[in-house]
Amino acid sequence: MKEVPNILWLEEIRKEDIISVGGKGASLGEMASIGLPVPKAFVVTAQAFRRFLVETDLEKKIFASFERLDVEDNAALEKAADKAKALVLKAKMPASLRDDIKKAYKKMDNNDLIVAVRSSATAEDLPDASFAGQQETYLNIKGEANLLLSIQQCWASLYGARAIYYRARQGFDDSTVNIAVVVQQLVHSEKAGVMFTSHPITGEPSTIIEGSWGLGEAVVSGSVSPDKYVFDQRTEKVVDTLISNKKVEIIADGDHGTKLADVPKDRQDKQVLSDAEVAKLAMYGKIAENHYGVPQDVEWGIVSGTTYILQSRPITTIGSKKGAKGMSGNTGSANILIKGQGAAPGIASGKVVIIRDVKDTSAVKEGDILVTKMTNPDMVPAMRKVAAIVTDEGGMTCHAAIVSRELGTPAVVGTKTATAILKNGQLITVDGELGLIYEGAIAPAAASPAAGPATQAVVAHAPIITATSVKVNVSIPEAATRAAATGADGVGLLRIEHLILGLNKTPGWFIQNKKEEEFVKELHDGIKIVLDAFPGKPVWVRTLDAPTDEFRNMKGGESEPHEHNPMLGWRGIRRDLQSPDQFRLQVEAFKRLWNEGYENLGIMFPMVSHPDQFIRGKEMMRGWGVDVEKVTLGIMIEIPSSAIMIEDFLKCGIKFASFGTNDLIQYTLAIDRNNENVADMYNPQHPAVLTLIHNAIQMCRAYDVEVSICGQAGSDPKMASWLVEHGITSLSANIDAIAKIREAVAKTEKRIILEAARSKDAE
Ligand code: PEP
Ligand code: MG
Repeated sequence: MKEVPNILWLEEIRKEDIISVGGKGASLGEMASIGLPVPKAFVVTAQAFRRFLVETDLEKKIFASFERLDVEDNAALEKAADKAKALVLKAKMPASLRDDIKKAYKKMDNNDLIVAVRSSATAEDLPDASFAGQQETYLNIKGEANLLLSIQQCWASLYGARAIYYRARQGFDDSTVNIAVVVQQLVHSEKAGVMFTSHPITGEPSTIIEGSWGLGEAVVSGSVSPDKYVFDQRTEKVVDTLISNKKVEIIADGDHGTKLADVPKDRQDKQVLSDAEVAKLAMYGKIAENHYGVPQDVEWGIVSGTTYILQSRPITTIGSKKGAKGMSGNTGSANILIKGQGAAPGIASGKVVIIRDVKDTSAVKEGDILVTKMTNPDMVPAMRKVAAIVTDEGGMTCHAAIVSRELGTPAVVGTKTATAILKNGQLITVDGELGLIYEGAIAPAAASPAAGPATQAVVAHAPIITATSVKVNVSIPEAATRAAATGADGVGLLRIEHLILGLNKTPGWFIQNKKEEEFVKELHDGIKIVLDAFPGKPVWVRTLDAPTDEFRNMKGGESEPHEHNPMLGWRGIRRDLQSPDQFRLQVEAFKRLWNEGYENLGIMFPMVSHPDQFIRGKEMMRGWGVDVEKVTLGIMIEIPSSAIMIEDFLKCGIKFASFGTNDLIQYTLAIDRNNENVADMYNPQHPAVLTLIHNAIQMCRAYDVEVSICGQAGSDPKMASWLVEHGITSLSANIDAIAKIREAVAKTEKRIILEAARSKDAE
């Protein structure tokens, strides 16, 4: 076998050389080979280290002292470690090895290149046996003598007490463990940091980059709160930017080593990376991820406009909550005031305005943060103005959550204490993804949600074609353009109650005050906006489904009955069937739209519990002149009884069914969907819920009737994947979730096709 030389240049190294160059060296070589901008480097090989041990006779001396060592005896361990380190440091490096190193250094840049000297243990940085951090790195090394010393120091670090202990516990034989040393041009980064090429928890294609001033060690060690950038690989856009106050940086200290320095005031709050730099880094990250086949944790640096990739290794945290801390925990020294559920993604800062009564909403100014117990429909005008929304109550399917997602406004719901803890005028930052409220303004003003990033985030870059239709939910007509920009295959749920409640008068008021035409016109015009945004694509409009308590604050609300449990009360189709006038006005608006040629309009009945209700609704519509056999009429499956009796509904001629899991879950499990005290028991994947869904899907498929979902669970990629596996024919998700749902659906479909092909091959 060919003898491995003392020195290997990066260009000669591939990942198979790990035994000679260690994990770090192999990874750098591999990165250079695929064209990533890696600073120049050579590696003093593991074989060189072994030759050093043999030729200096250290091999025998060191390992003899380890033989009877009890690593649990701390004093003995420290003593053996000190002795071994001293032996390595004092030994004279064999002349041939010294010459090889000196020659290589000279070749790099004529003897005065500043380098980083990093140990690269042969088991380090591997996914399975991470020795990371147990060996040394020496930064800012200049000149032959310093370089030789640093290399010897790296070798000595192999015998640190902690490293010896760790190896003993892991069953490694010390006498066979080698160490390689990477000598690499030190990039005097003006800015540097880390990057996760995919989301470290969910694995979604969002690149997360943290960056700060000076060398990257400041970010890696956590001594600074870095800026944070999120780049969506699907839309190829920066979708989130969080600027931190960066008080310190690590910079070169003269000729040797580094030091921690204060960042001058004028740079502390300055944004570190431009969008173009983020995009470039994300592209390099993607190249590394594609090459290695798994998401990477990358270190990077930028100097004089040149971007360098310094290190890349697999992320080991995907799927494990623990690892998430590294990135998101770094939102810095920023103080977390309260936590809730992240209900609408995005980060925004602003002044708190607490709303205890709808009448107070006049105090809300553009860019404020609306804090309230729970939003209701008459707060929507105020919700449009604000930078973020925070509520005490509610879960992922409450009014605040639904409307915020459509407005593209970051929201945190179910904090329990926001209205008690936050003060009017207080400056805060809301993270609608993680559900955190921070003290102070740590988001850039530009992150104002309504305009840019949120809109960009939902625009599909290159639509993925799926066999299962992926539709979108809409509640407010003004969200129609954003919804259509996702490229969705239609609207799987248009909730008209948001439209009606926005009028601030109950349907009863319009009827009593002989203003029926006004009501019909408002309804017609609102729905038309959505239909126009989805030409030729199905739009399923749901008849009115507002619990009585939501009508209370509106004109005419005084006559609403007081119900102990409005969720189980007079709402949905049951109310319309008992209030023919209210139902008739809605049908009148639908009829006009059908007459105008909107054949893509379908009507969906909410809260049906028995096929009789569907038949009665249909007959009433027929009575008002609708050609009920021609138009598309379907039902929501929100009540367990409708899931159980689905075959009877199918026999009555429903043209589609859509799971309203928000209610189906609460009615199956007896968990109030808006009650934060039981939110942790609200489980969309409860076997009872899944059984109801599975059975209903199979029955609809047997009758060849479209079966869909429009509850929040349809916006969860895992659930979407499960539904596709179980035969669902379409899904309808929130605007912000369309891209990831489409991706999950496409992946699942591919997997199903592949599995089918494989099992056929096997026959
Ligand atoms: C549902 O129940 O899942 C649903 C979509 O309806 P809503 O959230 O309006 O009750
Ligand atoms: Mg419902």
